[in-house]
Amino acid sequence: MKLTADRPDASAPPQWHAIPQAQVEQALQTGAAGLSEAEARQRLAQHGPNRLAPPKRRGPLLRLLMQFHNILLYVMMAAAVITALLGHWIDTGVLMAAVVINAIIGFIQEGKAESALDAIRAMLSPHAMVIRDGRRREIDAAGLVPGDLVALTSGDRVPADLRLVTVNALRIEEAALTGESLPVEKSVDAVVADAPLGDRYSMAYSGTLVVYGQASGIVVATGTATELGKINQMLSGIRELTTPLLRQVDRFGRMLALIILGMSAATFVLGIWWRGQPPADMFMMVVALAASAIPEGMPAIMTVTLALGVQRMARRKAIIRRLPAVEALGSVTVICSDKTGTLTRNEMTVQRVVCAGHVVDVGGIGYAPVGDLSIDGRIIAPDHYPALAMAIRAGVLCNDARLCDEDGLWRVEGDPTEGALLVLGSKTGFSRQGGEEAWPRLGVIPFESQHRFMATYHRDGDGEPWIFVKGAPERILDMCSAQLGHGGERALDVDHWRRMATDTAAQGLRLLALAYRRAAPLEDRLSFADTEAGYVLLALVGIIDPPREEAIRAVGECHRAGIRVKMITGDHVETARAIGAQLAVGVGRPAITGAEVAVMDDAALRRVAWDVDVFARASPEHKLRLVKALQSHGQVVAMTGDGVNDAPALKRADVGVAMGMKGTEAAKEAADMVLADDNFATIAAAVREGRAVYDNLKKFILFMLPTNGGEALVVIAAILFELPLPLTPAQVLWINMVTSSTLGLALAFEPAERGIMNRRPRPPGEALLSGFFVWRVLMVSVLMMIGALGLFLWELDNGTSMETARTMAVNAVVAAEMFYLINSRFIFAPVVSREGLTGNRYVLLAIAACIPLQIAYTHAPAMQSVFGSTDLTLLEWAKVVAAGLLVFTVAEFEKLVIRRTRLAAHFSQVALQGDSHERPSVRRCHAPASPAGHRPECPLRPGLGPSGPAG
Ligand code: ADP
Ligand code: MG
Repeated sequence: MKLTADRPDASAPPQWHAIPQAQVEQALQTGAAGLSEAEARQRLAQHGPNRLAPPKRRGPLLRLLMQFHNILLYVMMAAAVITALLGHWIDTGVLMAAVVINAIIGFIQEGKAESALDAIRAMLSPHAMVIRDGRRREIDAAGLVPGDLVALTSGDRVPADLRLVTVNALRIEEAALTGESLPVEKSVDAVVADAPLGDRYSMAYSGTLVVYGQASGIVVATGTATELGKINQMLSGIRELTTPLLRQVDRFGRMLALIILGMSAATFVLGIWWRGQPPADMFMMVVALAASAIPEGMPAIMTVTLALGVQRMARRKAIIRRLPAVEALGSVTVICSDKTGTLTRNEMTVQRVVCAGHVVDVGGIGYAPVGDLSIDGRIIAPDHYPALAMAIRAGVLCNDARLCDEDGLWRVEGDPTEGALLVLGSKTGFSRQGGEEAWPRLGVIPFESQHRFMATYHRDGDGEPWIFVKGAPERILDMCSAQLGHGGERALDVDHWRRMATDTAAQGLRLLALAYRRAAPLEDRLSFADTEAGYVLLALVGIIDPPREEAIRAVGECHRAGIRVKMITGDHVETARAIGAQLAVGVGRPAITGAEVAVMDDAALRRVAWDVDVFARASPEHKLRLVKALQSHGQVVAMTGDGVNDAPALKRADVGVAMGMKGTEAAKEAADMVLADDNFATIAAAVREGRAVYDNLKKFILFMLPTNGGEALVVIAAILFELPLPLTPAQVLWINMVTSSTLGLALAFEPAERGIMNRRPRPPGEALLSGFFVWRVLMVSVLMMIGALGLFLWELDNGTSMETARTMAVNAVVAAEMFYLINSRFIFAPVVSREGLTGNRYVLLAIAACIPLQIAYTHAPAMQSVFGSTDLTLLEWAKVVAAGLLVFTVAEFEKLVIRRTRLAAHFSQVALQGDSHERPSVRRCHAPASPAGHRPECPLRPGLGPSGPAG
């Protein structure tokens, strides 16, 4: 049986949208319990995985060829042709070898970067909620087969083409397929056979987005057989291998290349006319000069550095979806985080139930259903308290979660808030299953953050109708006009309940109110019209959800790092404030509610956005406005979210962060980063890595430019001052080949520096090439020149042969680069320590790889005949090493001077790493949060003044 609908032959494909459900079930041999696992496995073998063909990649050959598409390599290839014409075969050979080696290294590096990103892409594969053997479970969407019964909720991407069998206010946005961006209301009724795609209301198509409601449907087509597959579209946006910084570097590199070419041309002309050098020699020299000065390996290594950073973040459970986020993370100044589940553990336990006449304490922790109910320390039986008993029943019935016992380990499937109510029920002998057998559920309005309540409609043993609601007390109190107490139903004492709510919330408990109405829905279906008035309040429930230990630490870390943490929650303002206090968020500052935000205009919100750290009863649209308000202050904002409605805020934020576990597909797609563990601490870890990546990019550039510059200066100085050339063209190319891509790459593996989170955030617009950079590049270039050229001239002066002096010069350049690689591990901090010298084994490996190459260059006869090198004595080797040490020592000394004179603060935002006693003055205001969480106010951006924008 072939089930897909794309068959052109006589037994035409079923028009799934036009036939009734029962027939669909029959045709696909499935039912309300879904397929069996065995059947699903068999169908998977038959139909293949539910996956679209991945986009065509460039083949390896083409990718290799693309490596030659590079200004420098063009120059070198042209030079190779000219040298061949001139008959300089050795130079031609060296040039060609250099070209090929460069291309191969670039190819390998690019491959590494791509595969790192691919591995991460795979971590984000879409999931689907499927019903098999009568049980709901989440599976990889690729495992869906025709006939599978799939559940949809708002925020899901539809995982395959589905014929809907149940819908509850389902609205789907089908832009991916039809281009129509207005959501379509779906139903289960068959439509006419020739309805166009957009009018097939009984279908949910793969790749479209559920924006509201719930549904279930039967898979009728998977993979390429889906409508989306037929138009051969890939949803996942193509991820670019580039970021603003990389583009900046790219532009810089190209500009530099042009300048160098210009300078080379000038040198060429100068050499021939002014110095009367033979054109052929001069030409080779100029080619070598260009080859040594142009930082051709730079873009490739920068990409690798980013990719490695992305990989490290993934290991820490932060999955980067868009590469530019890595950079933005390093300059984040504000993190706006959800509370529930991100800052808190999301393991909810009911601690208190407040009924009309008494406050009941609930014992026990976690989800294990053991614990007693007590009033004033006296254990009670709930049956004696009608309101309490009914409240517990309501909590269990108005509930979509499940409590599972796995070998004594209790777990909740579904919303932990609801799980807590199930546990409360179990503690008093009430299970959801038992409850629903006695009081079957006939209708439901599921919980959504926007309306903050849930309602269910039941019939009791006598056939009498009941509607239960549970939700935020403010919402539920609005619906109630009475309360249930010992003496039956009484008029509602609103003030009492408000007071009890504030009281309970102030202890950090999350609040739910429970109420009932003894009536059937107005129409045949439960709808919002049934939840307006006439309810009887049963109880308030206080649920504890303690902060995560690691989140408390991470908030502290963020504060030290000059990052403000703001908490956004749907909870009661007092709950939010109390939990905030435990996390050191918003202590001593006002907290505001969504209702207050709603009446502010953007200008007013701008004024308070910075000062307020706790936003309670907030809705997704408030998040968007908050992001905008903070950004208007020049803040770099990270914002978390999980629902469909959070998507706009996530898109707008500089770093949109989605929850990997409880987040919807829609939120993940809008996000720049996904937290695999939904944990706030992971954001802090990602910021740390983001800063490390940026550091490494800087370190690499600070290594790359002066090493190129040093080589070039040696040659230029020799030409300018009419000295004998210390390096022949072939020798320059050799140095370039040995060191350019090997040494610098090691810096991509540099771990985050100690104290990296004690600095203030990097200003987002910061130019990579600050005054300090130019100074450092020039200084080291000159140092290298002095080392190599000085040694060369000194040796010549002492009567050494030209070959030996040149061999020493080549080795001196390479040695200086090796030593400087170690300097480059830290921009300002000293490296003369165990950590500094051995902390990055890739640095040692890179150096270890270069040493035998240099020994071969010097002593191998074959090399000697190609490059004109010659054996060195031990003493001569020692002089070479000394030249390298000179560079090392002076470079370290320069750092020391900068640290001492605190010039660092002026040169760059980068503070002195690791040595917190030596903080430069700019960081003064970013002292760690005091125990009370008070922090001296910090300037938003340098120059805005110490009182912040609101001050
Ligand atoms: P957050 O996740 O930011 O804490 P939510 O929007 O999930 O906020 O919840 C806001 C409020 O809605 C809670 O304080 C609680 O009163 C109520 N609530 C939460 N979950 C449920 C639920 N499953 N059913 C009914 N009400 C709920
Ligand atoms: Mg929630």
